Amino acid sequence: MPSNAAYDLAVVGAGPAGSSAARRASQLGLRVLLVDKAAMPREKTCGGAVSNRAQGYLDFSLPLHLLDSECYGARVRYGALSSEGRCSERIAVLVSRERFDSFLLQKAQESGAEHRMAHVRDVQDEGRTVLLRTPVGEVRARAAILAHGAHGNLYQRVRPQDTLAESGICLEARVPAAAAPLPPGLIDIHFGVAAFGYGWVFPHGTYCSVGVGGLRDRFSRPREAFEGFCEGLGIPARDIRARGHFIPCGGVRRTLAANRLFLAGDAAGFVDPFDGEGIAYAIRSGQLAAESVHESLRGHEDFCAGARGYTARCHSEFGRNLGYSLLVTRLMHRFPDLLLRIFAGDRRVLERYLEVPMQDLSYQGFLAWLALRMPVSLLKGALAARRTA
Ligand SMILES: Cc1cc2nc3c(=O)[nH]c(=O)nc-3n(C[C@H](O)[C@H](O)[C@H](O)COP(=O)(O)OP(=O)(O)OC[C@H]3O[C@@H](n4cnc5c(N)ncnc54)[C@H](O)[C@@H]3O)c2cc1C
Repeated sequence: MPSNAAYDLAVVGAGPAGSSAARRASQLGLRVLLVDKAAMPREKTCGGAVSNRAQGYLDFSLPLHLLDSECYGARVRYGALSSEGRCSERIAVLVSRERFDSFLLQKAQESGAEHRMAHVRDVQDEGRTVLLRTPVGEVRARAAILAHGAHGNLYQRVRPQDTLAESGICLEARVPAAAAPLPPGLIDIHFGVAAFGYGWVFPHGTYCSVGVGGLRDRFSRPREAFEGFCEGLGIPARDIRARGHFIPCGGVRRTLAANRLFLAGDAAGFVDPFDGEGIAYAIRSGQLAAESVHESLRGHEDFCAGARGYTARCHSEFGRNLGYSLLVTRLMHRFPDLLLRIFAGDRRVLERYLEVPMQDLSYQGFLAWLALRMPVSLLKGALAARRTA
């Protein structure tokens, strides 16, 4: 029976998840409306590291003018310990989210998606259609993908609200590059400055993204931690305007779809809890959600099968790995003086870990390798401590 919907699919949020969903759905021939409450380009609090994994999910290359700098490795610190790990290949590029997200939106529009600026106040599943309510009118579609990020509560139409243990909080600011110099090609990660999280310095050419983030149930004073972190870097905190943002803790099993409503990106909770990477999973989950909606519409509107298929594909492609990342995170932060010390003190451990974002190793593989490496790392740490005593 034909529905009275103007669109096959409405996508809420034009971040990486929403724009990727809209592009894939349009390519599959669906009539797509992509709605965002912000005028583009809009600010997004983010370190702006776009991994190889993320770039590999895109069906186009990023133009050179979008790339602020390149990342080949990391310098990791924990207390007085510091180690540097470098790969022969590039791990990620650093972008400004304003320009990156605008580019992804442009790619969605190029493939046929219609873009509209409107704040979606509510979404209702009406059985055969979904209804979006905005201050400038209502929109009906045959299905909706909710990709509104970590803020807002529309996702609660599909799953319960995240608990404080399932969500993180970050403070981030841009400082002139000269204020936080880094070795070429490296990003800086500081453990121990945020509970169940870390502090970072990511280079963007003329400026650096500086921030702290940790789990909300443990990280009670983010402002103080941020100021302490900046002061430790030699940057007077009073001169900095920091922006706060929530970030979901991935690896937790969440409901991803209910009938005609699908969640993607941060709204679905897809962020690596150990390193904070979310852009890759936003892009991929948006694409998978779009494919599932398309299959459901083609398969006589069987949205239960679509929701099941979407959940299974997210789990097998990256959800399982995020589950192991959560295990690594919990272990590292529960025994920081043992495990974070090894991570920041044994260069081989850091180099092996870098194979995870390079996609050469899973978190499960890293964990198994780390268990075998532990005696060597501990011995190296003890000898280093004796030498400096
Ligand atoms: C401080 C910080 C640093 C980070 N650094 C990195 C990093 O370096 N690398 C990385 O991979 N990940 C990083 N992440 C995670 C990454 O930013 C997110 O995982 C990613 O942006 C998720 O994309 P998304 O499309 O789901 O949501 P978003 O990018 O948040 O986009 C959501 C969009 O929805 C719109 N919207 C919201 N509500 C509504 C509504 N009701 N109606 C209409 N529109 C709406 C918003 O305006 C926005 O444009 C970081 C996160 C934080 C907080």
